[in-house]
Amino acid sequence: MPCIKSVLNDATKILANCSDSPQLDAEVLLCLTLKKDRTYLRTWPDKELEAEQEAAFWEYLNKRQQGTPVAYLTGTREFWSRDFLVTPDVLIPRADTELLIELCLTIIPANAPSSIIDLGTGSGIIAITLAAECPHTEVTATDYSLTALHIAQLNAKQHNINNIQFVQSDWFNEITPTHYHLIVSNPPYIAPDDQHLIQGDLRFEPLSALRSDEQGLRDIKILAETAPRYILPQGYLLVEHGYNQQQAVQTLFKENGFSHIQTFTDLSGQPRVTRGQWL
Ligand code: GLN
Repeated sequence: MPCIKSVLNDATKILANCSDSPQLDAEVLLCLTLKKDRTYLRTWPDKELEAEQEAAFWEYLNKRQQGTPVAYLTGTREFWSRDFLVTPDVLIPRADTELLIELCLTIIPANAPSSIIDLGTGSGIIAITLAAECPHTEVTATDYSLTALHIAQLNAKQHNINNIQFVQSDWFNEITPTHYHLIVSNPPYIAPDDQHLIQGDLRFEPLSALRSDEQGLRDIKILAETAPRYILPQGYLLVEHGYNQQQAVQTLFKENGFSHIQTFTDLSGQPRVTRGQWL
């Protein structure tokens, strides 16, 4: 029977054609198969796999080779040091979105109560991270998709979060006129003709969470137009957007009456989040 080291070598070579991180993917999938962590793989490189383990591993590898993202195979992805359940009904959490969290945390007052709404919450990473980091806040999390909302609720339960209310809503449609200190969203923002939609991991993610009409701006436009009716004076609107949408998003914020508009760059130096204040 082949040992850990040799299957990892073979798997890494095979995945090199379809993944940017073949070795990591192979290790994560072997951990999933063996129900062990990566330290185990390093500690026991000569340990032989049982026939069933080998078969199960190659099955995962086949799926990965055909494009299924690792997060949909393992069913989890880490975000802001917490594990989140993910399925193909929700977008896979991205490191880029941690910028949105950082910016929200600089705004949320340390002790005073505040109200936050996360629109299009998906797996719930934004709402849950903010609710966990700021237990004195009241968070509302919405999604149009009931399946996504169910996953977000499971994630909230797993992290023992009690300060989130979940609402099925198409953006603000089902939200009763409430005023929030902070309105935040990672909406779909990829233009329908963008080739990335038919490449790599994106092919397996829900299109409704990725694609937006009007060059990717339709949903951000709805948010900028509707947010003023739901925001408290001095409150903030923060949205994640595409690397090339800074000007367009700033214009939408300006046209809808926001002030102190600023765009912030992600870890790779790309404009990624725009923030505006309601004065
Ligand atoms: N940042 C994601 C990507 O380009 C898109 C996420 C989104 O549309 N909200 O892969």
